[in-house]
Amino acid sequence: MALNVVMLGPPASGKGTQAARLALARGIPKISTGDILREAAASGSELGLRAKALMDRGELLGDEEMIAIVKERLARPDAAAGYVLDGFPRTAEQARALDAMLGGSPLVVIDLAVPDTELLHRMEGRRVCGACAAIAEPGAAGKEFCERCGGPMITRADDGDENVRRHRLEVYARESRPLLDYYRGRPTFRSINGAQTPDRVARELAASIEVMVPVASRARK
Ligand code: AMP
Repeated sequence: MALNVVMLGPPASGKGTQAARLALARGIPKISTGDILREAAASGSELGLRAKALMDRGELLGDEEMIAIVKERLARPDAAAGYVLDGFPRTAEQARALDAMLGGSPLVVIDLAVPDTELLHRMEGRRVCGACAAIAEPGAAGKEFCERCGGPMITRADDGDENVRRHRLEVYARESRPLLDYYRGRPTFRSINGAQTPDRVARELAASIEVMVPVASRARK
């Protein structure tokens, strides 16, 4: 059975890191809409330039455009055995569209809960690879070059400015927190304390998945 997972959580809650670990452990792709948009921005495409302007201000792209991007990505063969979505859905409309795309296939939804003060602190210190967009592991703090591709570690444009950091948390509270209510009543929803060490979060996440996969397959019938 395909394992389809959504990682929810505010900016810098660790969704990207945990999505990557889970995807690697399960041999399924991690699909990050933020990475897709940053790659588009780096390519200089029309979408990329528009996306960059919005991302740098901490604003969201429109639902219709994001839904089309994800629909196209989920239709690729590598997503047939499942995927871990990171950064999508971000609005109730995107969540409804994802349900329609799934057509009844099971979905595991994980929320990473982290207090705002910790998120602001993490965003300020976060470094990503300027070449492959990999996030520096906490243990690699201070590293100048990416351990994966050797590219330079930089501060993301939307992490560099305090007003933008705060604004992203406001946008999250307004647009994305309602998603928790959308999913909370489902037997395949779990909220995990994301303020723990990454290893501990990964362990809780793996344990939750083990419990929920049979639940998800029953919920489908
Ligand atoms: P992330 O890497 O997930 O923090 O996303 C970085 C930025 O990309 C966000 O602040 C938004 O500007 C944009 N973005 C990513 N995913 C979405 C989405 N599902 N809907 C709208 N905008 C998005």
